[in-house]
Amino acid sequence: MMQNSTSGRISAYIGLGSNLANPVEQIKSARGAITQIPGLQELAFSSLYHSAPMGPQDQPDYVNAVMGIATDLPPIELLRCLQQIENEQGRVRKDQRWGARTLDLDVLLYGDQIIDLADLIVPHMGLADRAFVLYPLFEIAPHIQVPGKGTIADLLAKCPRNGLTILEHE
Ligand code: ATP
Ligand code: CA
Ligand code: CA
Repeated sequence: MMQNSTSGRISAYIGLGSNLANPVEQIKSARGAITQIPGLQELAFSSLYHSAPMGPQDQPDYVNAVMGIATDLPPIELLRCLQQIENEQGRVRKDQRWGARTLDLDVLLYGDQIIDLADLIVPHMGLADRAFVLYPLFEIAPHIQVPGKGTIADLLAKCPRNGLTILEHE
């Protein structure tokens, strides 16, 4: 029988971040909303992490986590669903890059695919350099390969923790 990689479920990883309006609750509420997306199932959820802001420093610290899912949604559909959840949780898009936000949901990995579309680049551009992405990702997927970049363990070994702490153990 022919195997088709575009049918059936793919495991993907979503990065969650918040630094406004009760970040811990924002992350937990986003987790619930993501689980409600049709054609998607939660596989794993990391601890909640506490991180210093990237970019503009005149904003509150962040709460971050990573969620592992299985989905049959095409990647761009997944992104649209995540953006809708951001909007529902009061995300306001401003001109300033990396400014404060109630909720940020990034597609970190989508199977072993490399995606280069106008609206979607996977693996996520910041993945290899960001402690608040790599450490929670390693927690739930320690053996994963990042397409084009090597193993998660190799990337982690090159990335200082940068003050990242665990806020709430899963
Ligand atoms: P960064 O992407 O560096 O983490 P950010 O999350 O603050 O910064 P946003 O303002 O949330 O950036 O998103 C800007 C655009 O990034 C979105 O409109 C989206 O189309 C695009 N984008 C590209 N690749 C991805 C991805 N893998 N996940 C989420 N958004 C992505
Ligand atoms: Ca982001
Ligand atoms: Ca984003």
